[in-house]
Amino acid sequence: MSSAKIAVVTGASAGIGAATARALVAAGYRVVTGARRVDKLRQEMPEGVTCLPLDVTSQESVDAFAAQVPVLHLLVNNAGKALGVEPVGGATEELWRTMYETNVLGVMRLTRAFLPALEASGAGHVINVGSIAGFEVYPGGAGYTASKHALRAVTRTLRLELLGKPVRVTEVAPGLVETEFSEVRFAGDKERAKTVYQGMEPLRGDDVAECIVWAASRPRHVNIDEIVVRPLDQAAATMIHRREAGD
Ligand code: NAP
Repeated sequence: MSSAKIAVVTGASAGIGAATARALVAAGYRVVTGARRVDKLRQEMPEGVTCLPLDVTSQESVDAFAAQVPVLHLLVNNAGKALGVEPVGGATEELWRTMYETNVLGVMRLTRAFLPALEASGAGHVINVGSIAGFEVYPGGAGYTASKHALRAVTRTLRLELLGKPVRVTEVAPGLVETEFSEVRFAGDKERAKTVYQGMEPLRGDDVAECIVWAASRPRHVNIDEIVVRPLDQAAATMIHRREAGD
């Protein structure tokens, strides 16, 4: 039996999750990943990574996933999304519900399912991928920022509740990262998604993955409560330095 630590990464079929799973493999973890698009997950993951179907909005799916992972040291709750940019006055209820189901209740479901195993490991760690949207707001962003504010509250509460137990709790809160995120937000409109990163240099999934692996690899008595990581070109959610072509 290998003595490697075991990590779960949710939403590893793209973006930050895929980069994190690869970085954890490179750091020596045995990695179990989940996403709804299992074929894409298998394409993205290097050999040796376990790829399982997972829909964090379904308790049944979370139960089936968790049953495959009896031993766990690190849970990276990464699966999440923004949907639309409608103002509060024109909000689509179904989009808000899906964001809350995924970004908040999904994290609760995975954390609840895995806390016993994390505690039993003697050196457990929950890393939640939050966002600067967890403490900043912007017009058209309320559905998403409300969900990430809620996730931040859940993460900070968990830190209090686990005091005295061998489970660390961390929030990694990135600014703009170029992934499938904006394409998902704009319902598959690739051209519109590109404009989000126009004229500026966004973070890559790998930049966030490095933060996650760094937090996980501190000595077990060190709890990194939060990491806020933004592109140099982004000082706040709505303050972005953009260059004209040729600048
Ligand atoms: P992404 O490229 O769209 O990846 C999102 C991942 O989440 C995909 O693997 C997707 O897989 C998975 N996912 C979505 N719904 C799911 C569900 N119901 N069950 C299981 N998996 C699900 O976006 P990303 O930028 O990497 O986002 C990852 C996390 O970073 C999210 O929590 C996001 O809020 C956060 N974040 C992103 C940015 C940014 O600018 N990109 C900034 C701050 C924070 P399937 O579709 O295959 O299920």
